Amino acid sequence: MSKAKKTAALKRLADLYRRMDEAYAAAATPIGLSCAGCADSCCETMFRHHTYVEWVGLWDGLGKLPAARQAEIRDAAENWIRRHQNPLLPGVRPRVPCPLAQESPEGLRCGLYDARPMVCRLHGVPNILIRPRGGQSAFPGCDRAQTLGKTCEPALLDRTPLLTELARLEMDMVGRDRMAKMPRVDLTIAEMILLGPPKI
Ligand code: SF4
Repeated sequence: MSKAKKTAALKRLADLYRRMDEAYAAAATPIGLSCAGCADSCCETMFRHHTYVEWVGLWDGLGKLPAARQAEIRDAAENWIRRHQNPLLPGVRPRVPCPLAQESPEGLRCGLYDARPMVCRLHGVPNILIRPRGGQSAFPGCDRAQTLGKTCEPALLDRTPLLTELARLEMDMVGRDRMAKMPRVDLTIAEMILLGPPKI
Protein backbone atom coordinates (compact mmCIF):
# COMPACT_ATOMS: atom_id res chain seq x y z
CA MET A 1 0.00 0.00 0.00
CA SER A 2 1.35 3.44 -0.89
CA LYS A 3 2.12 5.93 1.84
CA ALA A 4 -0.48 8.35 0.44
CA LYS A 5 -3.18 5.68 0.50
CA LYS A 6 -2.32 4.73 4.04
CA THR A 7 -2.35 8.36 5.17
CA ALA A 8 -5.75 8.95 3.55
CA ALA A 9 -7.20 5.78 5.13
CA LEU A 10 -5.90 6.71 8.58
CA LYS A 11 -7.38 10.20 8.26
CA ARG A 12 -10.80 8.77 7.44
CA LEU A 13 -10.44 6.23 10.26
CA ALA A 14 -9.63 8.98 12.78
CA ASP A 15 -12.71 10.92 11.66
CA LEU A 16 -14.89 7.82 11.94
CA TYR A 17 -13.47 7.04 15.40
CA ARG A 18 -14.32 10.60 16.48
CA ARG A 19 -17.93 10.09 15.41
CA MET A 20 -18.04 6.72 17.18
CA ASP A 21 -16.91 8.45 20.37
CA GLU A 22 -19.64 11.06 19.92
CA ALA A 23 -22.27 8.36 19.39
CA TYR A 24 -21.02 6.52 22.47
CA ALA A 25 -21.20 9.69 24.58
CA ALA A 26 -24.73 10.40 23.33
CA ALA A 27 -25.82 6.99 24.62
CA ALA A 28 -23.73 6.91 27.81
CA THR A 29 -24.38 10.43 29.11
CA PRO A 30 -28.18 10.16 29.58
CA ILE A 31 -27.76 7.12 31.87
CA GLY A 32 -24.66 8.50 33.61
CA LEU A 33 -22.47 5.61 32.41
CA SER A 34 -18.75 5.87 33.05
CA CYS A 35 -16.05 3.18 33.20
CA ALA A 36 -14.31 4.74 36.22
CA GLY A 37 -13.85 2.25 39.05
CA CYS A 38 -15.59 -0.60 37.22
CA ALA A 39 -14.38 -3.93 38.61
CA ASP A 40 -15.58 -5.82 35.53
CA SER A 41 -13.04 -4.31 33.16
CA CYS A 42 -13.87 -4.70 29.46
CA CYS A 43 -10.11 -4.70 28.81
CA GLU A 44 -10.02 -8.25 30.23
CA THR A 45 -12.65 -9.40 27.75
CA MET A 46 -11.59 -11.32 24.66
CA PHE A 47 -12.61 -9.00 21.84
CA ARG A 48 -12.01 -9.94 18.20
CA HIS A 49 -11.45 -7.39 15.45
CA HIS A 50 -12.27 -7.76 11.78
CA THR A 51 -10.75 -5.09 9.57
CA TYR A 52 -7.37 -4.49 7.99
CA VAL A 53 -7.83 -0.75 8.32
CA GLU A 54 -8.11 -0.94 12.11
CA TRP A 55 -5.12 -3.28 12.19
CA VAL A 56 -3.16 -0.68 10.21
CA GLY A 57 -4.43 2.00 12.61
CA LEU A 58 -3.36 -0.01 15.63
CA TRP A 59 0.16 -0.38 14.25
CA ASP A 60 0.31 3.29 13.36
CA GLY A 61 -0.37 4.05 17.03
CA LEU A 62 2.07 1.42 18.27
CA GLY A 63 4.81 2.78 16.03
CA LYS A 64 4.60 6.15 17.80
CA LEU A 65 5.36 4.64 21.22
CA PRO A 66 8.91 4.53 22.62
CA ALA A 67 10.81 1.35 21.73
CA ALA A 68 10.91 0.22 25.38
CA ARG A 69 7.12 0.49 25.69
CA GLN A 70 6.67 -1.41 22.41
CA ALA A 71 8.85 -4.21 23.81
CA GLU A 72 6.74 -4.34 27.01
CA ILE A 73 3.58 -4.58 24.92
CA ARG A 74 5.04 -7.39 22.84
CA ASP A 75 5.93 -9.31 26.02
CA ALA A 76 2.40 -8.72 27.34
CA ALA A 77 0.95 -10.00 24.05
CA GLU A 78 3.03 -13.18 24.27
CA ASN A 79 1.90 -13.67 27.87
CA TRP A 80 -1.73 -13.05 26.88
CA ILE A 81 -1.54 -15.75 24.19
CA ARG A 82 0.23 -18.22 26.53
CA ARG A 83 -2.41 -17.74 29.24
CA HIS A 84 -5.23 -18.31 26.76
CA GLN A 85 -3.57 -21.35 25.20
CA ASN A 86 -2.95 -22.91 28.64
CA PRO A 87 -5.83 -21.92 30.93
CA LEU A 88 -5.38 -22.91 34.57
CA LEU A 89 -8.88 -24.37 34.56
CA PRO A 90 -9.49 -26.31 31.33
CA GLY A 91 -12.44 -24.87 29.44
CA VAL A 92 -12.53 -21.68 31.53
CA ARG A 93 -11.34 -18.61 29.65
CA PRO A 94 -8.84 -16.71 31.80
CA ARG A 95 -9.33 -13.02 32.47
CA VAL A 96 -6.07 -11.47 31.30
CA PRO A 97 -5.71 -7.72 30.68
CA CYS A 98 -5.33 -6.74 27.03
CA PRO A 99 -1.61 -6.25 26.22
CA LEU A 100 -2.33 -2.55 25.67
CA ALA A 101 -4.04 -2.03 29.03
CA GLN A 102 -2.26 -0.14 31.81
CA GLU A 103 -3.02 -0.01 35.53
CA SER A 104 -4.31 3.32 36.86
CA PRO A 105 -5.92 4.41 40.16
CA GLU A 106 -9.34 4.11 38.44
CA GLY A 107 -8.59 0.58 37.17
CA LEU A 108 -7.31 -0.61 33.82
CA ARG A 109 -7.09 2.01 31.11
CA CYS A 110 -6.19 1.78 27.44
CA GLY A 111 -2.54 2.49 26.71
CA LEU A 112 -3.33 3.23 23.06
CA TYR A 113 -6.57 5.11 23.56
CA ASP A 114 -6.65 7.11 20.31
CA ALA A 115 -6.04 3.98 18.21
CA ARG A 116 -8.31 1.58 20.09
CA PRO A 117 -10.58 -0.27 17.67
CA MET A 118 -14.30 0.06 17.13
CA VAL A 119 -15.31 -2.83 19.37
CA CYS A 120 -13.56 -1.16 22.31
CA ARG A 121 -15.09 2.23 21.48
CA LEU A 122 -18.70 1.06 21.26
CA HIS A 123 -18.77 -1.64 23.94
CA GLY A 124 -20.87 -1.04 27.05
CA VAL A 125 -23.79 1.11 25.96
CA PRO A 126 -27.11 -0.43 24.81
CA ASN A 127 -26.96 -0.69 21.04
CA ILE A 128 -28.54 -2.20 17.96
CA LEU A 129 -27.33 -3.30 14.55
CA ILE A 130 -29.72 -3.50 11.61
CA ARG A 131 -28.63 -6.29 9.29
CA PRO A 132 -28.37 -5.61 5.52
CA ARG A 133 -30.63 -8.57 4.70
CA GLY A 134 -33.19 -7.71 7.36
CA GLY A 135 -33.47 -8.30 11.07
CA GLN A 136 -31.48 -6.69 13.81
CA SER A 137 -29.15 -7.63 16.66
CA ALA A 138 -29.47 -5.91 20.01
CA PHE A 139 -27.02 -5.67 22.91
CA PRO A 140 -28.52 -4.51 26.23
CA GLY A 141 -25.28 -2.91 27.42
CA CYS A 142 -22.80 -3.97 30.09
CA ASP A 143 -24.04 -4.83 33.60
CA ARG A 144 -23.45 -1.28 34.85
CA ALA A 145 -25.32 0.23 31.87
CA GLN A 146 -28.26 -2.12 32.42
CA THR A 147 -28.47 -1.16 36.10
CA LEU A 148 -28.32 2.55 35.30
CA GLY A 149 -30.82 2.11 32.46
CA LYS A 150 -33.47 0.92 34.94
CA THR A 151 -33.77 4.39 36.45
CA CYS A 152 -34.17 6.36 33.19
CA GLU A 153 -34.85 5.92 29.51
CA PRO A 154 -31.67 4.57 27.83
CA ALA A 155 -30.64 6.14 24.51
CA LEU A 156 -29.85 3.34 22.04
CA LEU A 157 -26.71 3.60 19.96
CA ASP A 158 -27.32 2.47 16.37
CA ARG A 159 -24.09 0.84 15.21
CA THR A 160 -25.39 0.37 11.64
CA PRO A 161 -24.13 3.58 9.95
CA LEU A 162 -20.79 3.38 11.76
CA LEU A 163 -20.16 -0.23 10.75
CA THR A 164 -21.29 0.49 7.20
CA GLU A 165 -18.80 3.30 6.94
CA LEU A 166 -16.03 1.16 8.41
CA ALA A 167 -16.77 -1.55 5.82
CA ARG A 168 -16.67 1.07 3.02
CA LEU A 169 -13.36 2.42 4.28
CA GLU A 170 -11.96 -1.13 4.42
CA MET A 171 -13.04 -1.77 0.83
CA ASP A 172 -11.57 1.53 -0.39
CA MET A 173 -8.25 0.89 1.33
CA VAL A 174 -7.79 -2.77 0.35
CA GLY A 175 -9.59 -2.70 -3.01
CA ARG A 176 -12.54 -4.89 -3.99
CA ASP A 177 -10.56 -7.40 -6.12
CA ARG A 178 -7.79 -7.75 -3.57
CA MET A 179 -10.28 -8.06 -0.74
CA ALA A 180 -11.77 -11.18 -2.30
CA LYS A 181 -8.35 -12.86 -2.19
CA MET A 182 -7.25 -11.72 1.28
CA PRO A 183 -7.83 -13.86 4.40
CA ARG A 184 -10.69 -12.63 6.58
CA VAL A 185 -9.45 -10.71 9.62
CA ASP A 186 -10.57 -12.31 12.90
CA LEU A 187 -7.91 -11.37 15.43
CA THR A 188 -7.45 -10.31 19.01
CA ILE A 189 -5.27 -7.33 19.89
CA ALA A 190 -2.52 -9.72 21.06
CA GLU A 191 -2.56 -11.51 17.72
CA MET A 192 -2.45 -8.22 15.78
CA ILE A 193 0.60 -7.20 17.82
CA LEU A 194 2.49 -10.46 17.39
CA LEU A 195 1.70 -10.74 13.68
CA GLY A 196 3.06 -7.26 12.98
CA PRO A 197 1.44 -4.77 10.59
CA PRO A 198 -0.81 -6.35 7.93
CA LYS A 199 0.79 -7.00 4.55
CA ILE A 200 -1.44 -5.18 2.10
S1 SF4 B 1 -7.31 -1.94 22.89
FE1 SF4 B 1 -7.43 -0.58 24.66
S2 SF4 B 1 -9.64 -0.37 25.08
FE2 SF4 B 1 -9.38 -2.19 23.77
S3 SF4 B 1 -9.23 -3.91 25.18
FE3 SF4 B 1 -7.14 -3.23 24.73
S4 SF4 B 1 -6.64 -1.80 26.37
FE4 SF4 B 1 -8.85 -2.05 26.39
